[in-house]
Amino acid sequence: MAVRLPGRAGPGKLAKMSALAPPIAPVDLLGVPVHPLTLAEAVAHLAEAIARRRPTTVVSLNGALLMRVLRDPQVRDAVRVATLVIPDGIGVLLAARILGVPVRRRVAGVDLAETLCAAVAPRRGRVFLLGAAPGVADAAAAQLRQRCPGLEVAGTAHGFFPPEDEPALLARIRRAAPDILLVAFGAPRQEDWMRRYGASLSVPVTMGVGGTLDVLAGRTGRAPRWVQAAGLEWLYRMVREPWRWSVVKTIPPLFLIALRERFRGGRGGQARRGETPGTEPGGRRNENRSEHPAEDISEQEVRAATE
Ligand code: UDP
Repeated sequence: MAVRLPGRAGPGKLAKMSALAPPIAPVDLLGVPVHPLTLAEAVAHLAEAIARRRPTTVVSLNGALLMRVLRDPQVRDAVRVATLVIPDGIGVLLAARILGVPVRRRVAGVDLAETLCAAVAPRRGRVFLLGAAPGVADAAAAQLRQRCPGLEVAGTAHGFFPPEDEPALLARIRRAAPDILLVAFGAPRQEDWMRRYGASLSVPVTMGVGGTLDVLAGRTGRAPRWVQAAGLEWLYRMVREPWRWSVVKTIPPLFLIALRERFRGGRGGQARRGETPGTEPGGRRNENRSEHPAEDISEQEVRAATE
């Protein structure tokens, strides 16, 4: 199968773009900094991070993860410390639209991972695949090698290891010295893992990729392009994998929370209006609001909306 480059930019073009990557300003979505990049822009930034050996962690934010961020301070911290938070999911786009936050496009984590591998392959870039069931990372590696000629697979490891094996695994990743580490433990475990170990690994790009290795290995299929373009990949996945209902059911509550925030004064839309979190229009400090909008949404409110 040929390499798909959904951003319609070939690896050569992406390599040139990396020298020109502009600084990225995040926008604020319910207290979470989100980087509203296109696929090609995100790849350009990550290619530049690799070229400069600049440690970068990437979170793909979907609606389910955003709801966990609102509910759980530990998940919130793990997402906030990421260098790039990429909007990946219709729930995130919907919340952004309601709040007037300029996040227009979804960048699917699987597309970003694969396109980045394709971009670094001509320079013999190295990727380490970590996570999924035993055998899946190896199958994904075989597919990636075939689709991205030149790509070196620096190592693979499955994601079902006991805690006592962690130090040996970390040492193995350091020795392998990959340019890209794809961490596929599912959210939010992978984000928490990246927060704990990301900085100590000296890997330029560490990225949480959820079920990407299963997709690359051909264990789970993606929706047809037209379904993805219609923003209905979540529905496709839910029909094929009914246990995903727990993920899909976060979309309506997120919709309601975003609506409520909009009518309360549009927290999360500060980037658009230039407000500072915790202040009212005109710059007055609102003592009832925290600096971080997500902290103002009580656990009770989130639970009431999700249960
Ligand atoms: N997984 C893992 N270790 C675990 C639990 C899960 O490696 O302890 C893997 C699982 O096999 C799957 C991925 O994490 O490959 C989670 O995929 P899913 O599509 O559910 O993640 P999401 O994208 O929804 O976060």
